[in-house]
Amino acid sequence: MADIKSLKSKLLARQGELSEILNNYIADHEGKQTVESFIEVADIAEKSVDDFLKELELSVINQEVKEVKAINAALRRMDAGEYGICLDCGNDISPGRLEINPAAERCIACQTKFETEHATKEYNPSL
Ligand SMILES: [Zn+2]
Repeated sequence: MADIKSLKSKLLARQGELSEILNNYIADHEGKQTVESFIEVADIAEKSVDDFLKELELSVINQEVKEVKAINAALRRMDAGEYGICLDCGNDISPGRLEINPAAERCIACQTKFETEHATKEYNPSL
């Protein structure tokens, strides 16, 4: 059984780091909206957040945006009690895998399959 509490604090710590990176970027380039604000509204207005993230995704902070999205999704799954379950096959993701990558969305078998199907050189936080 995964230690959700410790994994959650890891995710939150990483989310904080990423927020800082993204905030600095936005302050330099946009200066309009802070990352905290879009993380806060994530549950209420997921679509507009996604739109905003989509714009950011086109920028040089693509990797950080993808990672923060994966973390937000993992935190939402924790709140919903669905954390640690593979999105594709519904089996439990091994605690060892979650320890290494708390934002993992798939078990290793499904992740490998997913990456083969979506072969790309882009950063993937679920690796
Ligand atoms: Zn799976």
